[in-house]
Amino acid sequence: MTKRAKPLIVGNWKMNPATLSRAEKIVVDIQKGLHGRVGASEIVIAPPLPYVSDLKELAGAQKISFAAQDVSFAESGAYTGEVGISMLRSIGIKMVIVGHSERREGSETDEMVKAKLDRVIGNKLTAILCVGEKERDRFGDYFTTIESQLTAALADVSAQDLKHLVVAYEPVWAIGTGENATPEQAEEMRLFIHKVLSDMYGRAGSEMVKIVYGGSVHDDNAADLLKIGHVDGFLIGGASLDAKEFASIIKISDQYAKFA
Ligand code: PEP
Repeated sequence: MTKRAKPLIVGNWKMNPATLSRAEKIVVDIQKGLHGRVGASEIVIAPPLPYVSDLKELAGAQKISFAAQDVSFAESGAYTGEVGISMLRSIGIKMVIVGHSERREGSETDEMVKAKLDRVIGNKLTAILCVGEKERDRFGDYFTTIESQLTAALADVSAQDLKHLVVAYEPVWAIGTGENATPEQAEEMRLFIHKVLSDMYGRAGSEMVKIVYGGSVHDDNAADLLKIGHVDGFLIGGASLDAKEFASIIKISDQYAKFA
């Protein structure tokens, strides 16, 4: 993606907060925190699914849209506890996070991630495909990890379908640890992901895909990750539950988009 593309800021609330009223308060406070902004960034929140319909009622002024944190690989049927893509679409979900490291850790294989990605893209929703290494070794093996996660998930995905894809580079060692990738590390990986996509789809295909960064993004590192890392936005866990900080990151991103 070019630097002028609209940055994408996604908040992943995971299994938080514990009640609908607290979730509503976060959205109301985000709206207040964003009052009067120049709305250059696209804002998406991935709350727990039971909250989505109520939160949508509150999300008007700043055009916040909603994502799901996961989806079933199956379309429908005898899968107790699962949620299918048509159900997500019918409640207005536009994006789905696929292959988050917390799910990969809990036994989600590359094959399952691929099946879910195909389900999302096949239904013309946007998949936010998470890739990331568990640790960094000095031999650079983490590049191989990223490449194999990408090629496994994207096998058989056509170039036309890339418009439904966002890649989130989320090094596992940076998630929830307070230790973010440096802007230089983010930039290096962004270039590497573009190279893998270019090898698969050519440069034009690769440039259709937004590459966002996730892993301990806060209001004190967001500007450098955008300016030096040149990422197209963020996938944010912890800081997205703090309305004031989330709004502040969005404003930083708005400023960046305006002057990039
Ligand atoms: C995440 O869970 O996707 C994430 C990036 O979390 P955090 O921002 O808390 O590191």
